[in-house]
Amino acid sequence: MLVRPKVVSQFKLHQDAMKILEEVAEVVVVPSLSHEDLMAEMSDADALIGAAKVDKAFLNGAPRLKIVASFGVGYQDRVDVEACTERGIFVTYTPNALSGTVAELTMGLILCLARAIPVADAYVRRRWWRSKAKSLPLGLDIEGKTLGILGLGRIGYEVAKRAKAFGMRILYYDIVRNSKAEEEGLASYASFEELLKASDFFTIHVPLIPETRKMIGERELRLMKRSAYLINMARGGIIDEEALCKALAEGWIAGAGLDVFTIEPLPKDSPLIKMKNVVLTPHIGSATVEARRRMALMNATDVVRVLRGEEPINIVPEQRRRLPLKAWKGREGPLAMSSD
Ligand code: NAP
Repeated sequence: MLVRPKVVSQFKLHQDAMKILEEVAEVVVVPSLSHEDLMAEMSDADALIGAAKVDKAFLNGAPRLKIVASFGVGYQDRVDVEACTERGIFVTYTPNALSGTVAELTMGLILCLARAIPVADAYVRRRWWRSKAKSLPLGLDIEGKTLGILGLGRIGYEVAKRAKAFGMRILYYDIVRNSKAEEEGLASYASFEELLKASDFFTIHVPLIPETRKMIGERELRLMKRSAYLINMARGGIIDEEALCKALAEGWIAGAGLDVFTIEPLPKDSPLIKMKNVVLTPHIGSATVEARRRMALMNATDVVRVLRGEEPINIVPEQRRRLPLKAWKGREGPLAMSSD
């Protein structure tokens, strides 16, 4: 009897992606499983679509796994690519499926901070009819302000394009200079320190890797303008959150827009929750119908390719550099094999 391969997805996938997957595999969707329950599903799974922490222990519990399809681009802090490569397991991601989407929310947070939109919303609901005089503080134009982008990669570039349309002056710092953006006149390079000092709005778009962990700490926050706003759409661990809370409470910077946190969900007792000069969103950078469909289609296509014994398209760069893998598990493709 032919046993269909098993795909475990930690996300509810768009129906177009489900259709592609269900043609060849059993798909188990487990959005809210505990780690133990997920591991129980992984014991006979051929593919994972998700954002789980995939380390050696995870791989030991998933002996049939052939592909980890990361539902997003920020796999660096979650997936042990080296361990997967050693075991012949592909790691894929969804580059460019969400760059514009994350950039749109970045602009959203910038505008929320500049114009105090959440404060104004609360004012209309709770106080407007009671106050004779308008007691709301004035906002700020973003036109003419300097936007500092830390990491001018796929998302950073899309942010620059949108910010340019708002009339902002754009500076960036990256370990590799982005000649395309510079030639287009989109963004000018600055050193990390210059970027911190010059920015009215400072937005983070680097991956969380050892070199970027706590890249923004007390020293960096003290270099920023007291009128500056910090936006983090990348990963919580890039900012020293304790130092940030101090900076916000003591006025070293004016405010922050945060989509990501050191611990997620953000603990109820986090000082950030009570601060008026912050805007908080629950890690929703890629959460639009369109982006989630594109991401699901990319993951599904790669999973099916591996199950068929083909190489996936969106292999992560660290693994692509090591190709051809000597012995990747999907070589024969379970779809071509009879059951065991
Ligand atoms: P990307 O294209 O790889 O861009 C990241 C940029 O940062 C690259 O240009 C990279 O240079 C640069 N960089 C790496 N290390 C650096 C360092 N130490 N100093 C300065 N620059 C450095 O990635 P992306 O697609 O734009 O995504 C960026 C991050 O956004 C992801 O890693 C993820 O964590 C986060 N994200 C968050 C959400 C959300 O929902 N909030 C959604 C999607 C992504 P090299 O290319 O030379 O390494």
